[in-house]
Amino acid sequence: MSGAFETSTRRCDKEGCDLPGQYRAPKSPRALDDYYWFCKDHVREYNLNWNYFQGQSEAEFQQFLDNATVWERPTKPFGRSTQEQKWARHGVDDPLDILGANGTNPEVRLKSTRKLPPTERKALEILEARETWTRTEIRKQYKSLVKDLHPDMNGGDRSDEDRLQEVVWAWDQIKDSRSFKD
Ligand SMILES: [Zn+2]
Repeated sequence: MSGAFETSTRRCDKEGCDLPGQYRAPKSPRALDDYYWFCKDHVREYNLNWNYFQGQSEAEFQQFLDNATVWERPTKPFGRSTQEQKWARHGVDDPLDILGANGTNPEVRLKSTRKLPPTERKALEILEARETWTRTEIRKQYKSLVKDLHPDMNGGDRSDEDRLQEVVWAWDQIKDSRSFKD
């Protein structure tokens, strides 16, 4: 990290931050002369994310994506909601309450060419995938969604976190399902 540029008149480039931007950081490994300007805290945050991914090989990054549930922080304490309990009676685990009120009768929602469990149907919706896709195709879609939504990939922005949790949940439903060809 380079020192502060005391003469800089810029504001921090982090959205919503009004502090002076006296620290600079290259925008990408391919644009080392093109800088963002940040305050001290935000340049540190930016550099942490940067270093994290710079040190990783492609294979490690793939593994990171596959293990996405490991770093996912639970947003709810343990204990099941009423809707969740309804789903549990159908043998369906819905800890994030994504299926919600439809838990009363999962069969009602099915209106499609394929007979898929409601969790998998919901998962496809979340992943914006089609029921005719192979697991490989869905996995590709999942990875690109995670890349877009992960806070480490967009400068620490956590506004997409809920959507990211849904996406991770959705892939969990698909990855070991027998409904999809590899
Ligand atoms: Zn800042």
